[in-house]
Amino acid sequence: MNPESVWIFLGLLFLGGAIGFYAARRPRPSTIGAERVRGNYLAGVNFLVNEQPDRALEAFLRAAELDGDTVETHFALGSLYRRRGEVDRAIRIHQNIVTRETLEPEQRGQASFALAQDYLRAGLLDRAEKILEPLTASGPHRMAAMRHLMRIYEQQHDWLRAIEVFRELDKSGKSPQEDAIAHYFCELAEEAHELRNLDEAKAYLRAARAERRRFPRGALVRTDIAIEQRDVALAERLLASVMTQDAALAIEVLPRLMRLARAAGADGDAVAARLVAARPDAGSEVAFAAILSDALDFAPLEQLVRAFIAQDEIISGLVRAIGRDPATLDSRAVREVAVVLRRLAATTPRYRCARCGFSSINHFWQCPGCKSWDSQRPLLRFDLVAGLERGHPPA
Ligand SMILES: [Zn+2]
Repeated sequence: MNPESVWIFLGLLFLGGAIGFYAARRPRPSTIGAERVRGNYLAGVNFLVNEQPDRALEAFLRAAELDGDTVETHFALGSLYRRRGEVDRAIRIHQNIVTRETLEPEQRGQASFALAQDYLRAGLLDRAEKILEPLTASGPHRMAAMRHLMRIYEQQHDWLRAIEVFRELDKSGKSPQEDAIAHYFCELAEEAHELRNLDEAKAYLRAARAERRRFPRGALVRTDIAIEQRDVALAERLLASVMTQDAALAIEVLPRLMRLARAAGADGDAVAARLVAARPDAGSEVAFAAILSDALDFAPLEQLVRAFIAQDEIISGLVRAIGRDPATLDSRAVREVAVVLRRLAATTPRYRCARCGFSSINHFWQCPGCKSWDSQRPLLRFDLVAGLERGHPPA
């Protein structure tokens, strides 16, 4: 028996004992019925001990059918199964509770909520959604049901409904993350932008700004529109504001900076120099992002990357090993080193969530691990060893 089974076994022994005690004390219409319930429990425990979980489940469900007094036991059993990852069994237990006719409204709510959690765990979002929606009307599971629904709408990219639920939660001071709503509006703005509905995109960005005045992601989407509309001055101002607010977003800024500098024509170098100067303390972030997004076409960026190469002990050591001075590499050599670093980086995590530690190769606004918004931070070092161990990335 594995350690978890031991705990379940001990827990059920206790529960079985308690039920027996309860059945013996309480005057019941049929002591034979109580005996059968107890027998089924003991059979269930026996099957568990013998690693026969399906037969154990059947025995427990039979006991549940015979005795309406054991609802709490079945809740405990259902959540144990879910925690063990045996979601199908948890679903069967909770479905069994929900379909009982003689259930108190409170217990029905609890069973529905538990079933919704099982469905979420199983990835059956539609089913979970159907059960959670009525629970948001009232009752003790109202807030938790809304929080789950918000996550479901996020996963379904149903941003309008996510906004509705967010506002409801916010009214009660229970929104899980303040900035989430501004991100929802940005998602809508990005969708509208992709469909070339620029007025609609701008309206959503205004809504995002109304929720949060200084919101870098909104500024980035607005920058895209400004560059397309050749509003170079606005785009530069927006990118400078993003850099000032959060240098970790350099990875989002650099590709735009390149497009903007190209759109500025002969002023490209000057635009790049001003944006780099917006955060003189963030040279590493900008250089890292410039390498990853192949943004070396402008002199100020190339200089930053050269400095980055010279500062990194391992990279500069490798450059010295081939007989070159890292501080005086010419443009071509800087580019060649950048290409190698970019290819290595393509196979190793470049971002880590500050909240849960989830690491990824690409930048996400919402952490795929813990679902926090804005929690990813760039790892400002190239993991040369891991990159080399994984072999050649696809070209
Ligand atoms: Zn996370």
